[in-house]
Amino acid sequence: MSKLAINGGPKAVQSDPGDIFKWPIITKEAEDAALEVLRAGKMSGTDVTMKFEKEYAEWHNMKYALGFNTGTASLHSAMWACGVGIGDEIIGPSLTYWASVLPALNLGATVIFADVEPNTLCIDPKDIEHRITEHTKAIVAVHHHGYPCDMDSIMQIAKKHNIKVIEDASHAHGGLYKGKLVGTIGDVGCFSVMSGKPLATGEAGILVTNDREIYERCVAFGHYERTGETRYAEIEGEIITDPQLKEFAGLPLGGFKYRMHQLSSAVGRVQLKCYKERLEEIQKAMNYFWDLLEGTKGLRAHRPPKGSKSTMGGWFNPKGLYVPEELGNLPVEKFCEAVRAEGVITTPGTTFPLHLHPLFHKADIYHHGKPTVIANTDRDVRQGKGSLPVTESMSAYVYSIPWFKHYRPKIIEEHASAFKKVAENIDELLNS
Ligand SMILES: *Cc1c(COP(=O)(O)O)cnc(C)c1O
Repeated sequence: MSKLAINGGPKAVQSDPGDIFKWPIITKEAEDAALEVLRAGKMSGTDVTMKFEKEYAEWHNMKYALGFNTGTASLHSAMWACGVGIGDEIIGPSLTYWASVLPALNLGATVIFADVEPNTLCIDPKDIEHRITEHTKAIVAVHHHGYPCDMDSIMQIAKKHNIKVIEDASHAHGGLYKGKLVGTIGDVGCFSVMSGKPLATGEAGILVTNDREIYERCVAFGHYERTGETRYAEIEGEIITDPQLKEFAGLPLGGFKYRMHQLSSAVGRVQLKCYKERLEEIQKAMNYFWDLLEGTKGLRAHRPPKGSKSTMGGWFNPKGLYVPEELGNLPVEKFCEAVRAEGVITTPGTTFPLHLHPLFHKADIYHHGKPTVIANTDRDVRQGKGSLPVTESMSAYVYSIPWFKHYRPKIIEEHASAFKKVAENIDELLNS
C-alpha cells in the first residue's frame, strides 16, 4: 500500500487552512485611515506621508526616512544619492527582484553581478572584492527571502574600498542581523512596502539613512515639492548643505516624481502599528514549521542559525533548501509534485538569474547604438552562462514553503508533515 498521496495514499493536509496565508491583513482601522485621506482629498499631499516617515525612522532608530511611490523608486534614488552615474558600476546579486539593480542602467551605470551563498541565497561576500574596480560606487545587499546578508563582511569590504552599501530590505522588514534591524547597517536601506511584502501599505516604498547628504539627495532626485529650503528646515532645523541641491531646488534633479500616495502612507501607519505583533506571530509560525522538520533528510531550513541574534524578518515568499543527494537524487520538481499532492502549495526553484536575461546582454534601451549594459564602459562586463555557478545552479536546490501568517500549530504540523512524509517515503517515488 502506498503512503504518498501522489500514489493514492491519504493526504497529509486535511484541515482547511482558513486565512492562515491571507496577506495583507486589512483592519477597519486601516480602512478608516484610507477613507479619511480620500474624504479630505489629500491623496497627493505629504502630511500623512511625513508622519509615516517619522514613525518608520523612529522604529529603525534612524535620523531620516523618505517615502516613495514604489520600492523601485527608492532604490533608483538611493543609487543616485550614493553617486552612481555615467560609467559607474554597482555590484549586486543576480538572484533577486530586478529593481535591486536594474535602475543603475537608467543612471548610465552598469551592473556587475556577484554570486550567492548556497545556504543563505544572499550575495556572497567572498565573490565581491575581486569585482571592485575604480568605477564601483555601491554594493547592493539584498536580504533575500528575509535572510540577512553577511553585513559585517560586506561593510568591511565597502569601507576598505570607500564605496557605499545600499541594503534592499524589501523581503525582510523588521529582520535582525546580529541584533540590528536590517536596513540600518549600510549607508542607506531601501524597502518596498507594496501589498505583497511583509509590511504592506498598498503600492509604495521607503528608505532610511543616517546620512544627511544621502537623504537630501534622495529628496532632490524625485521630490521636487520638498526641495525648498524651508521643507528641509522642517525636518530638523538644518538647511540644505549641498550648494548644487540648493541652486536647483524646486525641480527634481532626476526628472522623476516619486512621492508616496497618501492612501498608502495612511494605511502604512496603521500597518506599522500592528506589524511588530504580526511579525512575532509569523516568526513563531515559521520557526515552528522548521523546528518540526529539523533532522529530516534532504531538507534544510533557510534561516539563520539559532542563537545567532539574526532573524528572518517577515519571511517574504519563504524557501527551503533541498539536498537531492540525500534523497536518491530525486529532482526537486518531482519532490514538489509529491508534496503538492499532499495538499501543500509549493513550487521548485528560484527566480530566473538576472545576469542571463537578454536585457543584460542585448537591449539598447537609450539608443546608444550598443547594448545599454556596456554603453558607457570600455570593457565588456556582460556575464554569460557559467559566470555565476552557484546562482545558476540554485534552482535545483530550492523550493517554496508555505508562508504562514498565524501561529496555528495543527495546520502548520499538517503542512510540515507533508514535506516530511515525502522525504521519508522517497523510495516510493524513486521506484515508480
Ligand atoms: C518588491 C521588491 C522591490 C521593488 O519594490 P516595488 O515596490 O515593487 O517597486 C525591490 N527589491 C526587492 C528585493 C523586491 O522584492
